[in-house]
Amino acid sequence: MHKITMLAKLSKLHKDYYKDCIDLYNRIKGLTSSRTILILVFGSVALLFFITNFKFNKEYNLIIDPGHGGANVFQKDGKIVKNERWDPVKGKYLSYYLTGMEADTYHEHLVMLELGKKVKAYLDLTQSFWGWQRFEDILRVFSKANNGNKGNKFERITLKAKLTRKDSWNHRYEKADKIHINNDYRLYDYPDERARLRHGRLSFINHHRPSLVVSLHMTPAGKGNEGGMAGVLAPGFRSYDLVRRILLKEEKMKEWKKSYWNGKVLDSNKKAGWKQFELMNADSWGYFHGYRSNKKGNKVNFNAARGIRHNLVSWAYKESDNWAKDYRPNQAGPYALKYRDFEAKGKFWDRERSQAESWRREGGPKLYGGDNHYATDELLRFVQHGVRILRPAMREKKKIGKIHFPFASSYALPIYVNAIVAFLEIGYLNRKRDRELIIGEMDAVAKSLAVGIYSLYAGLKIEALPDGTYLDDSKSKVNESDDGYTPKGEALDLEKYGDYFKSSVD
Ligand SMILES: [Zn+2]
Repeated sequence: MHKITMLAKLSKLHKDYYKDCIDLYNRIKGLTSSRTILILVFGSVALLFFITNFKFNKEYNLIIDPGHGGANVFQKDGKIVKNERWDPVKGKYLSYYLTGMEADTYHEHLVMLELGKKVKAYLDLTQSFWGWQRFEDILRVFSKANNGNKGNKFERITLKAKLTRKDSWNHRYEKADKIHINNDYRLYDYPDERARLRHGRLSFINHHRPSLVVSLHMTPAGKGNEGGMAGVLAPGFRSYDLVRRILLKEEKMKEWKKSYWNGKVLDSNKKAGWKQFELMNADSWGYFHGYRSNKKGNKVNFNAARGIRHNLVSWAYKESDNWAKDYRPNQAGPYALKYRDFEAKGKFWDRERSQAESWRREGGPKLYGGDNHYATDELLRFVQHGVRILRPAMREKKKIGKIHFPFASSYALPIYVNAIVAFLEIGYLNRKRDRELIIGEMDAVAKSLAVGIYSLYAGLKIEALPDGTYLDDSKSKVNESDDGYTPKGEALDLEKYGDYFKSSVD
């Protein structure tokens, strides 16, 4: 009995299948209707149009780097342990982990992580056809066209952004009493639990081969500083070498006095009252020898070890994997601790003297700081300009703080990656007005940065603000910035670098 039912079922299935086949045949037959022919013809024309007009978008790799993310590691006795800058010569960490700024309940690393994620989300829109439509809508709020393009046209480019981190240490619900808590947040390479050397943030960035790195930070404002925003720059070889040669009496002090960097060097210890030349000199010792110097610049400060930093990164300019065995600080050469005995020899120093590094860090459209300075300043201007376009309430006077002169020092990020580095102190975390901008209007800030990043690659025609004025028309020009607040909208000239951005790793 059971068998018969099964057979009946199978035969019904067979019948259904046969019926489906007939239906399909009839449908195909029906395709010859005039409506279908019309659709086919239109489809072919559209396809032909697509094929003949199709151009591959230019694609760019870039990095969004929300600063910090790690923790202070405490010993049992409550003391903080050094946990950054692994030095294979000494077999220990040279520095404390830089956890970033804190003010009230606000943490720089958390705020910058949120901002970084938002900027990336907007840039990701450029990666798909429908996303691009949305991105173009945002561009249209800012501008009518690319620089040089007529009409309502924006060059389609694809921006492949990567974040240097997706969380902070305290998202992981672990105690900060183990040295490995900072494994994903260090700048320099470090040994893991099994003593294998792992990539820090600088190596990670270089391995992504970006053409642009946007690093997001907030900084503390000292007494009398009402806040605002500022860039962070690292001078190039020629400026540090100038200082070195002045100390060796091969160059005159007046050459430093003429330098654009004079007046911009970060004063990391204001109480000590060091002059700009003395600060620059201590930086240059750190840059050349791995230790900062005393105030006079005639002695190494052994308490201020910076490490041979280009060897603390996995990239094409690391001398060798066994460099620590060749470290001879008492001999003439690239590791000499005596100024006179120092020789800038080797892969890294050749890179430092190269044209590409000069373009990145010296001279350029802003007269000093090279393309890094231009990109940094341009993005800060995009925030100033963009937030006022997007949020009418922010157009009121004094709602947004000014752009200060950049901080200049031998910062690691702008030196040890082959990419244009826009290092932004986008606000002062301990100033309420800056928090109202960066936290309160985060979406508008993120959109402005994303549009600014697009403009650095493709250029953008900058329009007046909705009231018909430009920021720089303002009578009350309170800024210290050398030439105003309105973005230039000029794209960076990346072509001139050739393969440089890709060549930092083998
Ligand atoms: Zn910071």
